[in-house]
Amino acid sequence: MTLHNCLLISVLILTTGCSYAQDPEIKPAIDWSEKLTEEQFRILRQCGTEPPFTGAFWDHHEDGVYCCAGCGQGLFDSRDKYDSGSGWPSFFEVLAEKAILTRTDYKLGYPRTELLCSACDGHLGHVFGDGPPPTGLRYCINSASLKFLLRDSEQVITRLLDGEN
Ligand code: FE
Repeated sequence: MTLHNCLLISVLILTTGCSYAQDPEIKPAIDWSEKLTEEQFRILRQCGTEPPFTGAFWDHHEDGVYCCAGCGQGLFDSRDKYDSGSGWPSFFEVLAEKAILTRTDYKLGYPRTELLCSACDGHLGHVFGDGPPPTGLRYCINSASLKFLLRDSEQVITRLLDGEN
């Protein structure tokens, strides 16, 4: 084995070990039943849905940021919220693309795009293609999946999104 090959293998071993140690898929186990209310647990961790016109935020108009009720990651800006008439908090844009994961949901017998918090995998709601300009999207979210922070707290959210928490 040449010196060059030796070095190459060493680098590969070191690189592999490093990436495994920093694997973002490895998340610490959290007892969500302790951390969440019954309703939050049913929706965030069991993919539930709250009845329309019942949640805390469908008719909420304060200026600030909506965060994940499970982990606190910033998800939506109140400036992107609008009244869809659906009875659920509705947004036409996310705060940051990296804050949301999507997967296809067939629970109703046809495909829908489910939304999850990228940090804790909590179920948020669904996104539909019947929203207003400029995106044409309707992010339909359960109030129970959200907590609200006034605009003054936005710096905290930005830090969370940047991974500096
Ligand atoms: Fe979360």
